[in-house]
Amino acid sequence: MSLNLVIFGPPGAGKGTQADRLKSKYKIKKLSTGDMLRAEVASDSPLGRRIQSVLDAGELVSDGIIIELIGNCIAQSECEKGFILDGFPRTVPQAEALDGMLSGMNRKIDHVLSLEVDEKILIDRIKVRAAETGGARTDDNEETLKKRLGVYRAQTAPILPYYEGKSLLRKIDGMATIDDVTAQIDVILEARQVV
Ligand code: AMP
Repeated sequence: MSLNLVIFGPPGAGKGTQADRLKSKYKIKKLSTGDMLRAEVASDSPLGRRIQSVLDAGELVSDGIIIELIGNCIAQSECEKGFILDGFPRTVPQAEALDGMLSGMNRKIDHVLSLEVDEKILIDRIKVRAAETGGARTDDNEETLKKRLGVYRAQTAPILPYYEGKSLLRKIDGMATIDDVTAQIDVILEARQVV
């Protein structure tokens, strides 16, 4: 049986950290669209250069590019046991496209793990991440983060009612410690196995 998860939340909510833990614990593939896009930027391809300007502006890369990227990954055999999506879907059309892709493969999302964190805390966390990573992420600055939060509110948060309507949304207190957030997720995933 595969385990197909989405980890959801605003920038700086801790999605990547929890996705890494889920990947190790459940031996599922982590698919981070942000990491994939940054790898494309690092390759300095013409597409990468176009993507860099979108990332630096704090905007979203077009749904078409992202859906193709994820579609190619999900179809690979390394995703057979399941996956954790980090940073995708980020728009309702992406969520709908994901459902379409999965149902074509006779699969479905099991849980959308939504990390809830106050905005003020996000800004502080991103400042810490920028200092820790030595500015490796050029979009980790206060100005771009404010833009990214605006984009999150306008384009990404509308996904929440979409998944709530499908009874897939699991709300998690993302302001707890990292270990406590992991524990909250474990409770949700273990409940699933008992049923
Ligand atoms: P992240 O590492 O998830 O914070 O993503 C960094 C940046 O990559 C975002 O601010 C967007 O510009 C872009 N990005 C990542 N995932 C997506 C997505 N699913 N749709 C559109 N743009 C994305």
